[in-house]
Amino acid sequence: MSQGPTKILYVEDNPVNRLLVQRVLTSVGYIVLEAEDGLSGIQIAEQEKPQLILMDIMLPGMDGYQVTTRLKGIPELAHTPIVALTAKAMDGDREQALTAGCDGYIRKPIDVDRLPEQVAEFLSGKREEIEGDVEERLVLQQEYTRKLVGQLEEKVRELQRVNAALLHSDALKSKFISMASHELKTPITVIQGYLMMLQDLPQAPGVGETFKVSLDGIYKGVDRLKAIVEDMLDITRIEGQTLRVHREQMLAKESVMATVRTMESAARERNLSIQVDTMEGLPALRADAKRLQQVFFNLLSNAIKYTPDGGEIKIWSKVTKGIELKHHGRPTSESGEFLQIVFEDTGIGIDPEEHERIFELFYEIRDVSLHSTSKTRFMGGGLGLGLAIARGIIEAHGGFLWVESEGYDRKQCPGSRFYVLLPLET
Ligand code: ADP
Repeated sequence: MSQGPTKILYVEDNPVNRLLVQRVLTSVGYIVLEAEDGLSGIQIAEQEKPQLILMDIMLPGMDGYQVTTRLKGIPELAHTPIVALTAKAMDGDREQALTAGCDGYIRKPIDVDRLPEQVAEFLSGKREEIEGDVEERLVLQQEYTRKLVGQLEEKVRELQRVNAALLHSDALKSKFISMASHELKTPITVIQGYLMMLQDLPQAPGVGETFKVSLDGIYKGVDRLKAIVEDMLDITRIEGQTLRVHREQMLAKESVMATVRTMESAARERNLSIQVDTMEGLPALRADAKRLQQVFFNLLSNAIKYTPDGGEIKIWSKVTKGIELKHHGRPTSESGEFLQIVFEDTGIGIDPEEHERIFELFYEIRDVSLHSTSKTRFMGGGLGLGLAIARGIIEAHGGFLWVESEGYDRKQCPGSRFYVLLPLET
């Protein structure tokens, strides 16, 4: 038997009614839980196991009849009395409520003086029943079932319409990214060409420091723009499965070291150490060296961005055979031989719930408006494309990319490990 005061759940979308019932029933010693729609009503009922449920019928989304039928199908709630509260005063309402599984029926507007007594009656076992013989009840049941199926059909159609609209806007988004990046590429190339022509000018007599500084600023800005456009083009290729990898015999060590060299000074500025294990004696890969360097760059710049000053980044690798791994969040096992390269940091870490989402396009865990777009500053943000591109490239090589981290903690810094797995030819 339940302990403590009696819990009553009131499922009602109208806040004024909720307040009224809450006041009346609380004043006579009940605990009143509230739900403003059917789905949260089901959730609260399952969690809280109230002793009685008051159910408004005219609810948005799932109506009170449907919610009641669902609740009665949950074994732990099958015997919890559900009392319909409705302003509808049409013939057959009562029958419909009882057919849906309600144990009683209270008309709205609620009679404040009578409500505590009505509730007490249902709590002490009162149950209403449909009049009529078995056949009449069967007819009512069939009518109700037909109505439910009709409503289900309507919902499925509505979902199909919404899904079609979503697919359409997703296709528009992809088209926009593709067109915008193609269109932007040309003027950027033109600007870069002119900038190269201006390159010798700072040496000329009479050219001031301001000009040199401005030119330098423009170089950097254009480089950044070009990188963004390249990322957008890569996304278009990955989404359209047209990303080409130019395989050649290569050593992972060389790509890793080339990446580390480009980031060394940024790491030093932030007092971060980057340690790479010897990577000697590892077999050669048949892979696209430039593309792999892009992946390593994204992983290393993230490790730098999300590790506080003074932290450590380790890159280590080994050959593995028959490995257990996580592919798109699902554990799977691979029997082949792989080269595994791990980027490990002592940074802020990543909540397990986010381990898959961070590989989605444009996904960033924290508020984008709060950060700068630096590739190396602590917590500097980007477009949220880096990991999606990195995974796309690794998968185009037949490999895997995933993350392991105990969780997110800016103070304790549990760190993250990004695993790259590339197939070795046997
Ligand atoms: P961004 O351009 O925001 O860095 P990414 O796709 O590279 O986009 O990363 C997506 C998100 O994953 C980041 O916004 C960050 O929250 C999280 N993240 C990526 N790498 C790390 C890391 N090494 N440590 C902690 N969080 C990370």
